[in-house]
Amino acid sequence: MKSKAPGAKGPQKDPLSAVKKARALKKQKTERLFEGLGVSPGIAIGPAYVRESGIVEVTEYAIPVKLIDKEIGRFEAAVNQATRQLQSLKTKASTLPAATFEELGYLLDAHLHMLRGSRLVRGVEARIAKDRINAEAAVQAEIAEISKGFAAMDDAYLAARMEDIREVGVRLVRCLTKTPPLAFSTLTKGSIVIAEELSPADTALLDPDRVSGFATALGGPESHIAIMARSMVIPAVLGVPGLISGIKSGDQIIVDGNAGTLIVNPSPGILNEYKQRREAQKRIERQLAKLKKLPARTRDGTEIQLHANIELPREQKNVLDCGAEGIGLLRSEFLYMNRDDLPGEEEQYKVYRDLLKAMKGRPVTVRTLDIGGEKLVSTLGEHLLPSANPALGLRAIRLSLKIPELLAAQVAAALRAGAHGPIRILVPMVSGVSEIRQVRRIVKGVAQRLKRRKVEIADPLPPLGIMIETPGAALSADALADLCDFFAIGTNDLTMYTLAIDRGDEQVAHLYNPLHPSVLRLIQFTAAAAGRRGIPVSVCGEIAGDPRYVALLLGLGIHELSMSPASLLRIKQRIRTIDMDAARRLASAVMEQTDPGRITTLLDDFSALA
Ligand code: PEP
Ligand code: MG
Repeated sequence: MKSKAPGAKGPQKDPLSAVKKARALKKQKTERLFEGLGVSPGIAIGPAYVRESGIVEVTEYAIPVKLIDKEIGRFEAAVNQATRQLQSLKTKASTLPAATFEELGYLLDAHLHMLRGSRLVRGVEARIAKDRINAEAAVQAEIAEISKGFAAMDDAYLAARMEDIREVGVRLVRCLTKTPPLAFSTLTKGSIVIAEELSPADTALLDPDRVSGFATALGGPESHIAIMARSMVIPAVLGVPGLISGIKSGDQIIVDGNAGTLIVNPSPGILNEYKQRREAQKRIERQLAKLKKLPARTRDGTEIQLHANIELPREQKNVLDCGAEGIGLLRSEFLYMNRDDLPGEEEQYKVYRDLLKAMKGRPVTVRTLDIGGEKLVSTLGEHLLPSANPALGLRAIRLSLKIPELLAAQVAAALRAGAHGPIRILVPMVSGVSEIRQVRRIVKGVAQRLKRRKVEIADPLPPLGIMIETPGAALSADALADLCDFFAIGTNDLTMYTLAIDRGDEQVAHLYNPLHPSVLRLIQFTAAAAGRRGIPVSVCGEIAGDPRYVALLLGLGIHELSMSPASLLRIKQRIRTIDMDAARRLASAVMEQTDPGRITTLLDDFSALA
């Protein structure tokens, strides 16, 4: 269609400038706000890079009987090609920061594992032979079948595993159809990656120096990409409805990982505001670094112990970097994940011993296996049968007592490592006195066996503590305190079990609230029981690393906090502004409330006075 000459209609003083104005108006983009889950904090500003889904449309067609072997051969070639791609991704990922590489390496290994004769690969081959269909269609049919089984289990962890299977399926289809793998080749420095969904393998293709933020339509706070974003310290917002249709590559984006918001094409005023916020954050980080050597002491001189939570031994460097006084929680189950065998006593002994040596006299708290629920270990498959309620099923200490040789190996490793430094043993998910009695018996038996063999072990035996993370344990705190040497309150699970709200389900994330009066009452009761029996008590759930909760926890009698190393200096800064009398008054006022909203206001008001 021919366009009309500018100014053809009506009297216009300057037709050309009118056209320019109209074009400028058209170009002027309207500011829009999207909301999702903030899974990795911080502010990022940059151009959008909208990522296509990667899914290739396939059609099904029949394969004549005589060509079935050839079709299976074509599928095998695709499997080999996919394997090579993943291996090269792994090599590429080795240039990422250590913690990111470790996480990603495990996930790429899981994908590689799936290509080695898994149910997916075997199922596809069987379908080609039995249904006489092309390999691409067989891949899709097999994935649909596997997902049916997973959907029936309705479990966040299994949903993540299903994502992995789909991801491998997409890769196989791309190899079969000779569609080149997706690359982020046109990513400009500082881009914000926008995608329906991102996989860990995608992340290996990303250059962390080029990506300043993430936002995806799918995925919850426990998804792989959330873990990756946190370990790369990149602000991210996930689970944003309508994201893909609402954003075009090149749009300017602000990602606010604290608030869980995304602003598209911000007005100059908003942009300026966020730039200032970003600068302010950097200034705060520089200030915080100066606190590293100062004590975590309240204004009136009360010393608070700050420890670090770690999953992998490699994170130990971050623990020393933030000036933590020890490791308050080593989630030992991570040593068991993503591998074909179980770590034995010797391997675990070396890990604990090296950690103790590196911590130079600071205590290391090893939590025994917390497997089950959302955390699974494939090598324990035969013991972990599907459960209608995995979070309430055979997990943590229940599993360890069912397979006592597993617990004995961990205990032996810890006792031996204890000859090299102060180690503590922590038992997860205890729900009653009989569990701790059984653990004590096992510790005693292992110690006797090692002594008979003249193996050097910790002397005296290491303190044995328990996680208080079920309402049952909290309410039995007095009895449990008589049987153990310390408590660590796991508020992540305690909140989940008290409120009956799955901590990993984004659909009920808005209801999950550790400030619910019932959760606080259990914390208060536990702290008081520990005080009555004279044993130490810490909080090692996520709230320990959130400055808003510090005064309340101190006021409730908690003098030890364990958190991710990234939060520690901020918490120390907060502690140094607190007066214990004021914290106790705050705690009394909070404990009189019935409404979590009112409690939040009280805490906010208290913080504002600091
Ligand atoms: C907790 O439940 O608060 C806790 C620290 O344990 P995890 O997060 O490993 O379940
Ligand atoms: Mg827990």
